[in-house]
Amino acid sequence: MSPVAKRATRRTTKTHGEKPSQRAALVSRSPTTKAAKLAVSAVVLERLKAEYPDAHCELDYRNPFELLCATILSAQCTDVRVNMVTPALFARYPDATALRAAAPADVEEIVRSTGFFRAKTKSLIGMADRLVTHHHGEVPRTIAELVRLPGVGRKTANVILGNAFHINEGVVVDTHVQRLARRIGLTRQADAIGIERALMPLFPRDDWALLSHLLIWHGRRACLARKPLCATCVVRDVCASAGDGEGP
Ligand code: SF4
Repeated sequence: MSPVAKRATRRTTKTHGEKPSQRAALVSRSPTTKAAKLAVSAVVLERLKAEYPDAHCELDYRNPFELLCATILSAQCTDVRVNMVTPALFARYPDATALRAAAPADVEEIVRSTGFFRAKTKSLIGMADRLVTHHHGEVPRTIAELVRLPGVGRKTANVILGNAFHINEGVVVDTHVQRLARRIGLTRQADAIGIERALMPLFPRDDWALLSHLLIWHGRRACLARKPLCATCVVRDVCASAGDGEGP
């Protein structure tokens, strides 16, 4: 670390033993240095953990295969809607072997209401086929293998690893995480990959999966896309975009 960065670290993270929540007065609302962003991150993480002690993946699933199917279906769709169709899907196709043999028209009918149902059906059946032909019907546990499955990108792979296997390989960056990371001032990156790279060094690795849930829960309940509820937000004192409730 350069002498300048060390001085910045001392300046922004000198805590005299306070908890992160007590450090707010020391934390910049527009962090520009890594040290300042680390200080804001610590406050955000602690506050959101306290606010949402039950934060979890809101997709319903009982095993990695079901989570993989549900996550593929969640593209451009709400978790609530996905949870309405997956019981029928999983009842009819309980594993990869059953799903790979499905007639596309039958799957399309079940997942129609999630949108893009033809493309999603193709991904689901293709994913199931590759699980059987390359992974003995099981969901693989590495990003490299997961992203080779049809319909699976880095975001979905991170969801599976973090939630089904408790492997923190990256941070899930969906539309909520994207919006909150930028509003709070943790990054100016615009694309998901850039935001993920910016967030990973700011938070403890063990918390990466939880971090996504916390930001998503906060994005759904307080930091709404059109009209964030800044006046009652638990991180308003460290947020670079805190407004008066009418949006940043
Ligand atoms: S203060 Fe406002 S913009 Fe900042 S995180 Fe809270 S709701 Fe979002």
